[in-house]
Amino acid sequence: MTETRKLIRGVHVISMDPSVGDLERADILITGARIEAIAPNLGEIDAEIIDGRGKVALPGLVDTHRHTWQAPVRGLAADWTIGQYMTGLHLGLSGLFAPEDTYAGNFLGAIEALNSGITTLLDWSHNVNTPAHSDGAVSGLIDSGIRAVFAHGGGADMYQVPSDRYHDEDVRRVQSEYFSSDDQLVTLAMALRGPQFSNLDITESDLALARELGLRSTVHVGDGEWGKTRPVAGMHDRGLLGPDITYVHCNTIGDDEIDLIALSGGSVSMAPDIEMGMGHGWPATRRLMRAGIAPSLSIDTCTSNAGHMFGVMRTTLATQRGFDNAAPDASLSNVELTSRDVLGFATMEGARALALDHKIGSLTPGKQADIILIDVDNVEMSPLNNPIGQIVYGAHPGLVDTVIVAGRLVKSQGKLLGEGPRTAIELGLQTRDALFARVARNATLPGAAPGGNWQPDALGAPIEEGVPVDIH
Ligand SMILES: [Zn+2]
Repeated sequence: MTETRKLIRGVHVISMDPSVGDLERADILITGARIEAIAPNLGEIDAEIIDGRGKVALPGLVDTHRHTWQAPVRGLAADWTIGQYMTGLHLGLSGLFAPEDTYAGNFLGAIEALNSGITTLLDWSHNVNTPAHSDGAVSGLIDSGIRAVFAHGGGADMYQVPSDRYHDEDVRRVQSEYFSSDDQLVTLAMALRGPQFSNLDITESDLALARELGLRSTVHVGDGEWGKTRPVAGMHDRGLLGPDITYVHCNTIGDDEIDLIALSGGSVSMAPDIEMGMGHGWPATRRLMRAGIAPSLSIDTCTSNAGHMFGVMRTTLATQRGFDNAAPDASLSNVELTSRDVLGFATMEGARALALDHKIGSLTPGKQADIILIDVDNVEMSPLNNPIGQIVYGAHPGLVDTVIVAGRLVKSQGKLLGEGPRTAIELGLQTRDALFARVARNATLPGAAPGGNWQPDALGAPIEEGVPVDIH
C-alpha cells in the first residue's frame, strides 16, 4: 500500500534542529508517519496540501509529567493549599475513582493536551488501584491518539505514606499485554514513589524491577520541605542513580544532589506553575543549568493550573528572569535565559527526558511527523517580529491551528477532528458527577462539591519527621 503524503506549504519553520534551522517560508513533506523533507520549495508533489501561510510550524510540545487521570476534577484545587490537596484529592476523591473513571480522565486529559499542541505526554499514573484501573488508563491514552509514555504508578492505597509496600508487580502483566514493542505510539515506564514517599529499601527494589523489565523510571524529588531530606543523595549512596531516571521538580534538593543527577546522566522535569502555587519551592532552572542539565517541562496537575505548555514556558522564563534581574550582579546588557532556551525545554529536552529524541522533539527529516502549526495571521501575533519570543510569551491553545501526530491529522483549522472530543467532554462530566454522587453517599468528604466553594480540611502539620507532605 502506498503511504499517504501530506505537504505543508509555505509555512514559517522553527525546527529546533540546528542542522535544519529556522526557515521563514518552507515546505514540509510528510510521508506516512515520518517527516520526509523540509526545504524552501519542494515543488509540485502529489500529496494532501495543508496551507501553511500565516502559520508557524513547531515540533509537537512534550509534557514529561502529567497526572492525566485528574482531568475530570480539574480546577477544584485552584484555591487550595497543599494540605487541602492532600485531603481533598489524594486521601479523598482519588480512592473513589472506578476503572472507567480513570479511562475517562486519561481520555479527556490526553485530548486536552492534543488540543493545546502537546503531542507527547508522560502520564504519571498514580491512580491505578487495580489491574482494571491500569487497563483503563492505558486504553484512555491509546484511544485518544496521543503519543504517550504510560508511567505505571500505584493507586491511592500505595500513597498512604510513608508506605512500606513495594511497587505493584501487575506492571509485568501490563507490559506483556500492551507493550510488547517499543515501536508504538504509547510506551511504558514506571512511576516510582522514591525515598520521599516510601523508603530507600523499597526504592532499591522498585528500581531493580524497572531495570529487570527494561523500563525507564520517573520519581518525585525535591518537593517543599520534604525534598530537603536528601532523597537523591540517599539513592546515590545505594548506587541507584542512572541515566534511566527522570527526577520531577528538584526545587529543594541540594546543589550537590543536582550535580549527582548530572553525573549520572539523569533527566529532570520541572513544573513551575504548580511548584510555585503549591509550595514546592522556587524553580531550579538556573541551578540545573549550571550543573549542565537542561530541564524538560511539565504540567503536573490540572486540578490547579491549566493543561497547556505555553503557560508553563512563560512561568519558567518569568521566574528565572526574576532571579537573574534581582541578583546583585544583574546584567543590564543581556538576559541569560532566552525564549529559545525555554522552547527547547518544551520540545527537544522533553524528548530527551523520555529517551524519545531519536523520534521526536525537532522537525527533522526522518523523525516522526509530530508537528503543530501556530496561527500568526491574527491581531494577537501579527506582525511577527520575533517568532519564538512571541510564541513563548503570547501563544495559547486557541492559536494552535493544526496538530499532527505520527503523520495523522488530529486538529485542523483550529478544531479537533472526529468524535473523540465530544465523547471526552461527556465522559468527563459523567465521571465528575459519579464521583460526587459517591462522595454524597459515603459522606467521606464533608462539603465536597464542584462550584469553587469546596474547601476541604487540610492535612495537619505537613512537616513531621518521616511524614511526606506532597504526593502530587
Ligand atoms: Zn507530580
